[in-house]
Amino acid sequence: MSAASNPRDMLRKIRDVMATRTESSQRLNQLVSVIADHMKAKVCSVYLRLPDDHMELWATRGLAPEAVHKTRLAPNEGLVGEVARTMVPLHVKNAQTHSSFSFHPETKEQDYISFLGVPILRARRVLGVLVVQDSQERLFAQDAVEALQNVAMVLAEVVASGELLSSEELNAVHVSSRNSMAIDGFTIVDGLAMGRAVLFEPSVVEGSRIAEDPDYELSRIELALEELQSTLDRLFEGKGHAFGEPTREVMNAYRMFARDQSWLEKLQESVSAGLTAEAAVERVRGEYRHRLLSARDPYLRERLHDLEDLASRLLRHLGGADIAAELPDNTILVARNIGPAELLELDRSKLRGLVLEEGSRTSHAAIVASAMRLPVVGGLSGLLAAVTEADTILVDAETGSVRIRPAEETRASFNERLRVRQQRRAAFSKLRDKPTISRDGQRVELLLNAGLQIDLPQLDATGADGIGLFRTEFQFMLAQHLPKQSQLIEFYGEVLQTAGKKPVIFRTLDLGGDKVLPYVAQEREANPAMGWRAIRMAMDRPGMFRYQLRALIHAASGKTLRVMFPLVSTVAEYDRAKSLLEQEMTRLARFGHSDLPEKLEIGCMVETPSMVWQLDQLLPKADFISVGANDLLQYFFAADRENIRVSQRYDPLSHGALAMFQHIINTAEKHSTDVSICGEIASNREDVIILLALGFRQLSVPASAIGPLKQLILSLDIKKAEQELLEWLSESSPDIRKNLLRFSKTENLAL
Ligand code: PEP
Ligand code: MG
Repeated sequence: MSAASNPRDMLRKIRDVMATRTESSQRLNQLVSVIADHMKAKVCSVYLRLPDDHMELWATRGLAPEAVHKTRLAPNEGLVGEVARTMVPLHVKNAQTHSSFSFHPETKEQDYISFLGVPILRARRVLGVLVVQDSQERLFAQDAVEALQNVAMVLAEVVASGELLSSEELNAVHVSSRNSMAIDGFTIVDGLAMGRAVLFEPSVVEGSRIAEDPDYELSRIELALEELQSTLDRLFEGKGHAFGEPTREVMNAYRMFARDQSWLEKLQESVSAGLTAEAAVERVRGEYRHRLLSARDPYLRERLHDLEDLASRLLRHLGGADIAAELPDNTILVARNIGPAELLELDRSKLRGLVLEEGSRTSHAAIVASAMRLPVVGGLSGLLAAVTEADTILVDAETGSVRIRPAEETRASFNERLRVRQQRRAAFSKLRDKPTISRDGQRVELLLNAGLQIDLPQLDATGADGIGLFRTEFQFMLAQHLPKQSQLIEFYGEVLQTAGKKPVIFRTLDLGGDKVLPYVAQEREANPAMGWRAIRMAMDRPGMFRYQLRALIHAASGKTLRVMFPLVSTVAEYDRAKSLLEQEMTRLARFGHSDLPEKLEIGCMVETPSMVWQLDQLLPKADFISVGANDLLQYFFAADRENIRVSQRYDPLSHGALAMFQHIINTAEKHSTDVSICGEIASNREDVIILLALGFRQLSVPASAIGPLKQLILSLDIKKAEQELLEWLSESSPDIRKNLLRFSKTENLAL
C-alpha cells in the first residue's frame, strides 16, 4: 500500500470533524472515513475497551455496519486483543494466517487481508485499538504506521475527554472516569491529608493534541530542548573533588536521550505531522518506554527512569513550570515512584501528601518522607491512569488508601477524621514529659531516627530520650557538590547542641543502593542492595570516610562522640573502620588540636545476617550495637526492601526472624552491651510488643511514632507479653499476629 497522504492534512481534517456539532456516533463515523481515506485503506475501525476488558467495535468504515456495538472480542482475543495486550502496533501482511486471528462473521471482514492495528493509549492504559485493513496482501509504509499512531493518540484524548462520546457511552468505556473513585494500597508513612493532585511525571491529558500551527509547535519544542540541554549542563556543572571523579557514565546516560538524534528526530517528526509539542513528547515517550521495557539488556531497561525523567523535564519546560520550584499550595504529589533525592528537592511547605503507584515502606524515600512528616500511601495500582492534574485527593495513610475526586460528604467526614487526628496528636504531646515506663515498671528508651535539619526540633517536641540513629547521608544527597567540611561541622555541631545532654548516635555515610550522589563515581551494578555500598564504599575510599570522621570529631569538641558504622559484614571490617576513627583522633591530637571530643563511643549496626553470627567476637570491641532491621530483614528473607512485589511478603514476626532477634538480644545481654533497634519495625506498635517481649529496651523510631509508642508502653505489661510469647512460640505453628491481636484486646492496649 502506498504511504498515507500528508499526515498534517489528516490531523487537520480530524480537528474539523471534531469541531462539528453533529451527534457523537456520526462524528466517529466521519473520523474513521477520514482515516481510511488518508491511509488509502478499505477499512478503518475503532474498538473500545469495555469495563470487563472486552473490545467492542464502536465505529467502522468498510466492515459491516450491523456489527457495530455487536462485535465484541474477549480479552486478548484476535489481533485486536494482541495489540491491546502488547500495547504496540501490530502490522501483518496476511491477518488470516496469523496465529491470533479470530473471525467474527458478522463483520464480513473475510475480504480484508492486511491488518494494521495501533493501541489507543492514555496514561499507559489501553482505551481501545484503531485498525486499518485492506483487501490486498501488503504492508503499510513506516510513515503511515507513525501517522496512525499520532491519530490514535488524538483519539485517546477525544475518548477520555468526552468530546466524542455521550456521557452514557463514556461511562460504558473503561476510561478514567471523572467520578469519585477509591484505590487501595498500603501505608508507607502514617497520616491523613487532603489536597490537589500534582503529577510528578506530567502527562498531556488536557486540551487538544492537534497543532493549530505546526511551525509554531516546532519552534516551541526546539526552544524547550535547548532549555533542557542547558538545565542538564548546569546540573552537571562543578565536578571533580574529594569524592572522586564525577560519574561520567551517569551523566552520559542522562544526556543520551537529550542528545539522541533519533529521539530528537522523532519529536520533530511528530510535531511536523501535526501534533502539539506536548503531544509529541508524550507520543515519543510512549514508544521509547515500550522499547526499553522490552529490552533484554538490563542496562537499557534501567535507562527507562532517565527517559521518564527527561520527558517530564521537557514537558515542564514546555509548560514553563519547574515542579520543584513551583508546587502549588496543598499539593498531593502523584508519582509512579520517587527517589529520596527527588523528594528532598521539593518544597515541604506546599506538600500535603504523596501517593505512589509503587513505593515501599522501608525505601529511603519513605524514610525521608517520614522525616518530613509527609503522609504517604504506596502500591496504588492504576493510580496514574486515574488521576488528572488538579483533582482533589484524600490520602488516607491510616488505612493505606486514596480517594480521588471525593464527593462532598466524603470530604466532610475526612475533615472530621483530620480533626480527631489533631486531637490525638495533642494527647500524645501531653505525654511528652512522662518517662516511658511500662505497667510492670520497666523503663524503655524511645529514641529518634533523624537525619535532616527539620528533625531537630522533634527531639524537644516529642520528649525523645536521644537520637538513636542519625543518618548522615542526606546532607550529601541534598547538595549538588560535596558539602564543605565547615558546613558539616556546623551541622553536626547543631545536632549535638540541640540534643544537649541527650545522646546522639551518628551513623557514618550509608551511600550506594538507592542513595546515589550525582557527583560520586559509582559503577552500575546488577544488584545494588548487595553491592558496593555503605561501609564497603568507605573502606575502598577511606579519603571520603576520613573527611566525614574529621567533621564529626571537630563538631563534638568537649562532648561525647558516638559513631556507628552501617552494613558491616565481618568483624575485620568493623576493626578497620574503628581503627580509622581512632587513628583520626590520634592524628588530630598529635597535630595539637585541643578541641577533641571528651569521650568516644564506637558501635556497629547489625544489619547483615553474617554479623548476627559474629556477635561473640564483635561485642567485646563495641560500645553498643544497633539492629538495622530494614536491611537485616531484607537480607534475611532475601527480599529486596525496594521491590514492592517482595518487600511485604514475609512477616518480620515469623519464627525465623524472631529466633534471630532473640539470639541478638541474648548475646548482647551476655556481653552487657547496649542494644537498640532502629529499623521501621520498631515503630509498628504490634511489632513493638513482640520486640519488648523479646527483651529490646531501646527503640529508635521516627518522630511521629514516639507518642503512639509511649502510649502503648505505658499501658503494657511487658512481663506478661513475654510469658505469652513464650507460650505462643512453643506451639507447633504459631500465628503470632492473631495471638497478638487477642492479647491486645484482653489487655486493652492502644494499637
Ligand atoms: C536499617 O537498615 O534498618 C536502617 C536503620 O538503616 P537504613 O534504613 O538507613 O538502611
Ligand atoms: Mg540499613
